[in-house]
Amino acid sequence: MADCDGSKRWFERAVNVVPGGVSSPVRAFHAVGGDPVFMERGEGVHLYDVDGNRYLDLCSSWGPLILGHCHPDVVAAVNDAVSHGMSFGTATPTEVELAEMITEKVKPLETVRFVSSGTEAVMSAVRVARGYTKRDKIIKFDGCYHGHADHLLVKAGSGLATFGTPSSSGVPDDFTKHTLIAELDDEETVQKYFDKCGDDIAAVLMEPIPANSGLLIQRPEFLRFLRAITLKYESLLIFDEVISGFRVGWGGATEMYEIEPDLMTFGKVIGGGMPVGAFGGKREIMDVLAPNGPVYQAGTLSANPVAMTAGLATLRTIESEDAFVKLEKLGSAFEARLNEELAGTPVNIVRVGSIVWLALQQNAPIRASQIEKAGIERYNSAHRAILDAGVYLPPSGYEVMFVGTAHSEEQLSKAAEVIGTKLKM
Ligand SMILES: *Cc1c(COP(=O)(O)O)cnc(C)c1O
Repeated sequence: MADCDGSKRWFERAVNVVPGGVSSPVRAFHAVGGDPVFMERGEGVHLYDVDGNRYLDLCSSWGPLILGHCHPDVVAAVNDAVSHGMSFGTATPTEVELAEMITEKVKPLETVRFVSSGTEAVMSAVRVARGYTKRDKIIKFDGCYHGHADHLLVKAGSGLATFGTPSSSGVPDDFTKHTLIAELDDEETVQKYFDKCGDDIAAVLMEPIPANSGLLIQRPEFLRFLRAITLKYESLLIFDEVISGFRVGWGGATEMYEIEPDLMTFGKVIGGGMPVGAFGGKREIMDVLAPNGPVYQAGTLSANPVAMTAGLATLRTIESEDAFVKLEKLGSAFEARLNEELAGTPVNIVRVGSIVWLALQQNAPIRASQIEKAGIERYNSAHRAILDAGVYLPPSGYEVMFVGTAHSEEQLSKAAEVIGTKLKM
């Protein structure tokens, strides 16, 4: 058992002044039990807590840390940026450079605007879709998470699934009445919505690689169906690539599936660990945004120069290190080792590149409703033992693991052994 007295003391202080002791609910470890661990620093693949315990990090700050902690090139760029000023509240060259890089790498993206979180990115993209189409309704899928904007907090996946709340209190029904919910992999329901009110549907919003209720890999035909039906009814298709963008390849899911959405959203990796989100798409659509058009959207710290620098340095390092090739190799080796270690138990290692999910059930689910509670509980009850053995997994069975370029095959192999051993106990 690791010594966690320091974390315990910090948590006691935290609950006094922070609701639940945390700034984002899943961090409280409610699903897995025990007190949360307070971290002091990260280095490469490792996290160090306030008691000096070291953990192999497979949560990677929920996705952003594709290069691991404190990549020297990113740290150097950020330090340099900080010394030039933390914020100007003006346009800066760095945001233009990052926007140029992103729009060059992601084909359907002509223009992009920066915000400070994935939540803001999706909220703004939906507003653009509604402003552009002059329609109110959107379709979202059960299990997809798009941040915590009021009207998107319906059947929204992990954080909420972890707490057993399908939606959030504090959101008036009136605010979600334009949000139509369908199951993933369900053409019929989507078709029904379009038959009924197709000319009032502004957009279909989806995570093309749904990674917020486990990892629910979709049939390409389903994504193509969504593209076709939105075109037919002149609605927009919004791909929320906050996780998949710059994680599964330069062009994200868009490139992987060869489907061009009208709008896309980004976050996580593009900030390299700093608060950054972005949304963009076709110029004609994005031009409804102020100051060019009537759709308002703004931010005091949007495109913050330090955050933009972290993002730019991260993407440049991904390029110079040929990261996606390396990540595919690491992810595939990790998958193989997990399969070995968990052989003979109900398990599916679901993986897209460096996103890996332990589906502890016989069949890999494709819809949120197909995720079996027993598997989630098995994960949750082994979490503390795995943590004590020095492997930091996301603290809920609904969450995915992220492999980064700093991981080695050997480290992942050892982690697989720890995970396998503890899960089988
Ligand atoms: C994390 C996430 C968001 C929200 O991003 P925040 O930066 O946490 O606000 C939105 N969409 C998806 C797909 C995400 O995974």
